[in-house]
Amino acid sequence: MTQAKKGLTLAVLVAFSLSGCANAGGKSDTQALTPSQEKASLRKLGLDEADINYVMAHAPQDAMAVATHKHNLLQDTHLTFDSSSKELKASKIPNIQLDKWNKKYKQQVAKIWGRVAFVVNSPRFVKQFNQETADLDVRTFKGGIDEAVNVPSNYDDFAKVALNRQGLAHNTYKLEAFSNKIGADGKEMSSGGNAWGEMGHPEVFLNPGEISSARLNKNAPLLLHELTHTFGYAHDNNPKANNGKAIQVVYVPNNVPYYVQMITSSGGTNDKDFDSLQQLSKQIHSKNPMLLPVNSGLNTDLFTQYFGQ
Ligand SMILES: [Zn+2]
Repeated sequence: MTQAKKGLTLAVLVAFSLSGCANAGGKSDTQALTPSQEKASLRKLGLDEADINYVMAHAPQDAMAVATHKHNLLQDTHLTFDSSSKELKASKIPNIQLDKWNKKYKQQVAKIWGRVAFVVNSPRFVKQFNQETADLDVRTFKGGIDEAVNVPSNYDDFAKVALNRQGLAHNTYKLEAFSNKIGADGKEMSSGGNAWGEMGHPEVFLNPGEISSARLNKNAPLLLHELTHTFGYAHDNNPKANNGKAIQVVYVPNNVPYYVQMITSSGGTNDKDFDSLQQLSKQIHSKNPMLLPVNSGLNTDLFTQYFGQ
């Protein structure tokens, strides 16, 4: 290559990177929305006005990026609040009984839902998702539905599966309310969790009493985990594929539900202290209280980063 040609290549590269920066800043005319258009778009995710105003003020570029995106996950979703003993029985969740939705429960769950819908489409989530897909282990995908048996190599692969499933469900979700049974000793029995997503179906079982008495963002990463089950993703501990020994899947980034739960939990975007989700997983399993207080500094979870408490 001659000197002259080399110079030309460099000049072109510089021009490219400059225009790239301008686009990344969200200043492109083709993408900009007026504030009211932006709000209208964010409302489609189920965010309430307070959360829309908060995220537009505190993360304006990310809010605009989500608002201008054409195919957001969980957009225009219709939620039905249901209480069905038949559905509860079919769920096979242990030690639960029917509960009813009240206004407070509905509001709280709808608010968390909107935050989850924003976060799963947000630039920070997409970036983290794309960083460590190599950790996903195909053996844990056993039992997944349709294309969700495949390891996504990036966020777009994951989004395609989720959008397909959402389309099949006509953008509807049924939320079933339960509470824990009281045992013969008068104590509350354990059902093993306050949210359960039905595999490959747009239905989530929720304990709204527990959820609404907790800090607003506390259960949001779990709800996202459960939604990935409804997209068809499993976390099979598949001992057969591991010489008869169960594979550890809980809070390990080798499966999609825990992968997304960890990304959005405390420490999930803390690249300084945890250079990988594997490191964060070790930290969680060591039960070391270093992650506390959960919402301080670098360990602030993605929900609190975007929406505050
Ligand atoms: Zn799960």
